[in-house]
Amino acid sequence: MPQTTTTSGQYIHIPFCIAKCSYCDFYSVTDRSDTFDRLVAALQVEMELRAAAGFSGLVDTVYIGGGTPSLLEPRQLGTLIDALDRAVGLEAVREFTVEANPGEAPPDKLHGFRQLGMNRLSLGMQSFQPDLLRFLGRIHNPEDNLRTFEAARGAGFDNISVDLIYNIPGQSIQTWTADLRTVIGLAPEHISAYSLTVEKGTPLHQAVEQGDLSMPGDDLDADMFAATRDILGAAGYRPYETSNFARPGRECRHNLHYWRIEPYMGLGPSAHGFDGQRRYWNMADLDKYLDLVEAGAIPEAGSERLTPEQRQNERLAFGLRLEEGLKIRSIQPDMTTEMFIERYSRQLRKWSHCLELSGGRLRTTANGAILADAIAADFMTESAAAGQTDD
Ligand code: SF4
Repeated sequence: MPQTTTTSGQYIHIPFCIAKCSYCDFYSVTDRSDTFDRLVAALQVEMELRAAAGFSGLVDTVYIGGGTPSLLEPRQLGTLIDALDRAVGLEAVREFTVEANPGEAPPDKLHGFRQLGMNRLSLGMQSFQPDLLRFLGRIHNPEDNLRTFEAARGAGFDNISVDLIYNIPGQSIQTWTADLRTVIGLAPEHISAYSLTVEKGTPLHQAVEQGDLSMPGDDLDADMFAATRDILGAAGYRPYETSNFARPGRECRHNLHYWRIEPYMGLGPSAHGFDGQRRYWNMADLDKYLDLVEAGAIPEAGSERLTPEQRQNERLAFGLRLEEGLKIRSIQPDMTTEMFIERYSRQLRKWSHCLELSGGRLRTTANGAILADAIAADFMTESAAAGQTDD
C-alpha cells in the first residue's frame, strides 16, 4: 500500500498542441479544441476514481504539463484545481507548475494562472535562433520568448524555468553559448538544457533514418554539454541534475519526486503514475481515454508492480544523474559503503575517474556527469549478472 506519510506529486497531462514539433514524442494532438471541456470533465472523474482506489500521500507539488496546457483557459484549469483539492487535498502544495509555450500564453492568461495559485512557470523557449526554431517545428520566434517571459514576470511569476535544446543540426557552439547568455540575461530561476535526441516515430527520426539529415557528432555534443555547465555554473546555476540547473532553493521539487523514486499521481491521456509500489500508464489516445473515463473506468493501458531489481535499477539510473548522488542505502537498506564497494568493485575501478564515493553516496564528478547514463547502465548490468536485489 502507498505510504500516507510520504509526500507525493500530482501530474496532469493536457494533450493539446497547436502544431507538432519535429522532435517531440510526447503524446499530444492538434485541432481538438472542441474537446477541451470534455477532457476537463474526464480528468475530474479520473482524479476521483484514483483517489477512491486508495492513491494517497501528502501532495506537495502539482505540475500541469503536456502538450500545451496554456491553451486551456484559466476557467478550465480552475475547475481542475478545485476538483483536485476536493479529491486529494492541496493544502500542503508548495510548488505548482504550469507549462506554457512562448507566444501561446498572453498576459491575461498568465495573470489568470497566477491567480489560481500557480507559482511556477515552465517556458519552452528551446532556442533563440529563428532557423533552429523552424527546424524544430516550433511556431514561436525569439521575440515571443522575450515577450512571454516579460509577461510572466508582469503576472507575478517569480519562479520561472526556461527549457533550451542543444545538439541541433546546424547549431554551432557559438550560437548555443549565445542562447545561454541571452537566457542568463533574463535571470530565470531554473534552466533545463537538453541535448536533442532522435526519438522513434518522430519526423526527425524519419529524416535521420532516410539519410536526409545527420545529427551533430558526439564531440560537439560533449563540447556543448561542457560549455553549458561552465557558463551556467559561472552565472550561479547549480547542475542539480544532469540536464537541470537552478538557483539555490529553486530546484524543481516536482521532478525531484520522479528522480528520487517517490510517489506521484498522473492524470490524463498517456500520463504515468507511481504509488510507491506500482507504476501505471494511461491510454496514449485521447478518444480511448475519454470513452473509458466516461464509462467510469480507470483509463490505464498497463501497470506493473516494481520488482526489487527494477527499483534498484531506477535508483541507479536517476541517482547518478543527481548532484546529490545515489544514496547507498537506497539500493538496499542494510548496505554499508564497504558492502557497496565489494559488490561493484569492477565498475568502481572502471569508472574511477568519473565517480566519487563519500558520505554514504555515490556521485559523478564534473568529468563523469556526461557519462551518468552509461555508468548507471554498467552498474545495472553488474546487478543483473549478480542477481542482486534490494529487498
Ligand atoms: S509544443 Fe511541446 S508537447 Fe507540443 S509538440 Fe512541441 S514539444 Fe511536443
